[in-house]
Amino acid sequence: MAVKTNYFKSFFLTEIVRGMALTFSYMFKQRVTLNYPFEKAPLSTRFRGEHALRRYANGEERCIACKLCEAVCPALAITIEAEPREDGSRRTTRYDIDMTKCIYCGLCQEACPVDAIVEGPNFEYATETREELFYNKEKLLANGDRWEAQIAANLTADAPYR
Ligand code: SF4
Ligand code: SF4
Repeated sequence: MAVKTNYFKSFFLTEIVRGMALTFSYMFKQRVTLNYPFEKAPLSTRFRGEHALRRYANGEERCIACKLCEAVCPALAITIEAEPREDGSRRTTRYDIDMTKCIYCGLCQEACPVDAIVEGPNFEYATETREELFYNKEKLLANGDRWEAQIAANLTADAPYR
């Protein structure tokens, strides 16, 4: 019986017909692939991407050099040095993140009392060298300036759940 069935399938090419039917059926279904980088998937407001240091609206740095983020970082990726300014306020003189060590746990953001260090929505920051992934304060502040609108909107959306 099995031999007859196989003979029937081979003679009438039923498996090709079934395969083509399956192929054509997908022509009318919604696509599940995206034409990246021209199309992008939606991101969660809690997405943990590239780090950024934020400023207040008046341009002042938020970071008060408390070093909580440095202490909590399980990967020891953050290095901070600080000095008091002439007006007595405490600010960092050095804020480095070694992005090759970072495991994107988000604990630095959780620990920060002034929402200064955040993991922003940017995930497109691949580099050609390791050195480019050693971020300093200027780079982190520039990230903050660039992504502030989206970061602020994400933090506001997430605020009721924090
Ligand atoms: S996300 Fe985690 S591993 Fe990366 S810098 Fe922050 S605390 Fe460290
Ligand atoms: S980024 Fe936040 S947690 Fe880290 S030193 Fe500055 S104020 Fe403190």
